[in-house]
Amino acid sequence: MQVILDKNESELLELFSEEAIQNRIRELAKEINNTFPKNEELVVIAVLAGSILFASDLIKRLHMPIQFEFVRLSSYGHDQKSSGNVKPVDLTLPSLEGKNVLIVEDIVDTGHTANFMIDYIKLQHKPENIKFATLLDKVCARQKHVDINYRGFEVDDKFVVGYGLDYLGYYRNLPYIGYFPQ
Ligand code: 5GP
Repeated sequence: MQVILDKNESELLELFSEEAIQNRIRELAKEINNTFPKNEELVVIAVLAGSILFASDLIKRLHMPIQFEFVRLSSYGHDQKSSGNVKPVDLTLPSLEGKNVLIVEDIVDTGHTANFMIDYIKLQHKPENIKFATLLDKVCARQKHVDINYRGFEVDDKFVVGYGLDYLGYYRNLPYIGYFPQ
C-alpha cells in the first residue's frame, strides 16, 4: 500500500546530521560513565517510542552493567503541538528501590512529560539516584521546569522528526534529525 503523507522526506531540512548526533552521544556517554560507578548496575528507562534510537545508541557506550527498561507515554496524539496532557500507556517496571536510574527522553518540549516521569519514578519506586537525559531540549517551549542532567542539543520552536521522532508515526527510522519548512 502506498503511504500518502502531506509532508515528504525530500522537503525535510537537516538540523543534526547522523555524524553530529553520534558524536554528541559519545560525549554524553562519557559524562554518564564519569558520574555513575563502573561496577554498580544502572537502570536505563527509555520513554517510548521517541527515545528508542537515542537510548539504544547511548547504552552501547556505557561501561556499567545496564538494565534496559521501557515505559510508554503519549502527549502529542496526532497534533504537532504538545497537549500538556500526559497519558501513561504502559508504566510496567521492575522494582527500582535503591537503584541508580537514568530516564532517557527524545525531546523535552513543554516539560510535562519529563516532570511526570521523574515524579512518578521518585514517588512510586524510591530509587537511590535518578538522572534525566534528553537528546533534544526545546527550551523556548518550556512550561514546567525540568532538571536535565544530560542534554544533546538545544532546538528552537520547530517540529522535528527523525532519529526516533515521528510525524504521524513515520520518519522515526531516519538516522538524522530534520524539520519541514513552514
Ligand atoms: P512535552 O511533555 O515536554 O511537551 O513533550 C514531550 C513529548 O512530545 C516528546 O517525548 C515527544 O514525543 C513529543 N514532541 C515534542 N516536541 C516534538 C517535536 O518537535 N517533534 C516530535 N516528533 N515530537 C515532539
